[in-house]
Amino acid sequence: MAQIAVFPGSFDPITVGHVDLVHRALPLFDKVIIAVGVNTQKNSLFTLDQRLDWIKAVFADEPRVEVDYFENLTADFCRKIGAKYLLRGLRNASDFDYEKTISQLNAIIGDGLETIFLISQPAYSHISSTIVREIIKGGGDASPFIPPQVKI
Ligand code: ADP
Repeated sequence: MAQIAVFPGSFDPITVGHVDLVHRALPLFDKVIIAVGVNTQKNSLFTLDQRLDWIKAVFADEPRVEVDYFENLTADFCRKIGAKYLLRGLRNASDFDYEKTISQLNAIIGDGLETIFLISQPAYSHISSTIVREIIKGGGDASPFIPPQVKI
């Protein structure tokens, strides 16, 4: 049976940190599904369609990466598509504190859904979509932090 990992997130927008994580996860799984969570509580800078289009463009040449979105619980999305693993990145201790709770909850409500964590490479650990959005809002150049397919 194919081992599928879901990489959930806001990807508002996708950064080079996200891209690195997916490339490092590909040897571990048959398929990685990048799933944009539609969060009604969070105001995104970019539309869902724009975020999906950018991710699809980044991984256009990688047949083992699929791009999708979900509106409710991550665990329900995983159950629906038959994925037993979640992929998440850890940049620092605050990522860890937050992710630990979420992964324990997902294991319960997702019937043993396992979260696989990859520690960020040092070159990417300072990069976040939040920082990229702040640079864009301030009129700066975010290109060192985003893949070339993300044209802002
Ligand atoms: P969320 O809104 O769920 O935090 P993000 O799109 O910000 O979604 O992040 C999705 C995942 O990618 C998270 O697990 C986050 O830790 C990870 N991630 C984000 N940036 C990096 C990075 N620079 N290096 C490694 N992992 C990262």
